[in-house]
Amino acid sequence: MTRMLAIANQKGGVAKTTTVASLGAALADLDVSVLVVDLDPQGCLTFSLGHDPDQLESSVHDVLLGEEEIADVLLDTDDNVTLLPATIDLAGAEALLLMRPGREYALKRAFAEVAEDYDVILIDCPPSLGVLTLNGLTAADEVVVPLQCETLAHRGVGQLLRTVNEVQQITNPGLATLGAVATLYDARTTHSRDVLGDVSDRYDLPVLDPPIPRTVRFAEASASGTSVMRGRKNKGANAYRELAENLWKHWEAGTPVPTFDMA
Ligand code: ADP
Ligand code: MG
Repeated sequence: MTRMLAIANQKGGVAKTTTVASLGAALADLDVSVLVVDLDPQGCLTFSLGHDPDQLESSVHDVLLGEEEIADVLLDTDDNVTLLPATIDLAGAEALLLMRPGREYALKRAFAEVAEDYDVILIDCPPSLGVLTLNGLTAADEVVVPLQCETLAHRGVGQLLRTVNEVQQITNPGLATLGAVATLYDARTTHSRDVLGDVSDRYDLPVLDPPIPRTVRFAEASASGTSVMRGRKNKGANAYRELAENLWKHWEAGTPVPTFDMA
């Protein structure tokens, strides 16, 4: 059985892409076979895993429009995850898909052809609630929301959860909201914890354990062509490793994902 997890927040810079790359690599280290999907026309996930979007002949764009078989577009990475890459063409996919019936199901249909090859599929949603994010949420079993622990982090969360709710009612009744992942977390001050507590209470959204600390290693990693898991040991990589283990136990044993105690 393949578990499909969408990483979504229409806010940019909250570590969606970082979470997909790092979690994917951490799961691969557990001998889990992982497909990561870049649904952002900016192609940041594609780039951070060592492929230049400008040099690619085909991408998830062609798959969504039914012009390429998904298997022909997949790329290997040094993080031992398979990548369904994005190129800037994807910016036009929104408009092209909008004219098609069943436009929210394009990714789900494509996954049907490869799902058996992977234990886990992680979907990096773009910073919008448009048709690409709807495709990600329609294909997924579960969604997590990365939250940068800063003031105003809650802005937009209500709108995202309303979108998730609409997807549950219309295109994907089985979609479950796993919770938030706290990113760029600063354990030294109470500010991060206060912000998280506020968002979690306001939206009744559990925060998964552990939070991901802020570290400069992530900036270094995104230029290196591999995830932070491949660099020197650091607290950010350790946190993603622990989160990967918690998620894998949840999927394998059916246990709830441990949540972060903010008290
Ligand atoms: P999004 O996909 O939500 O737009 P990114 O994953 O691209 O966000 O992250 C935005 C920026 O924050 C990137 O420069 C990334 O390297 C940096 N970043 C992500 N997580 C951390 C972290 N835990 N500590 C420090 N910087 C981080
Ligand atoms: Mg991103």
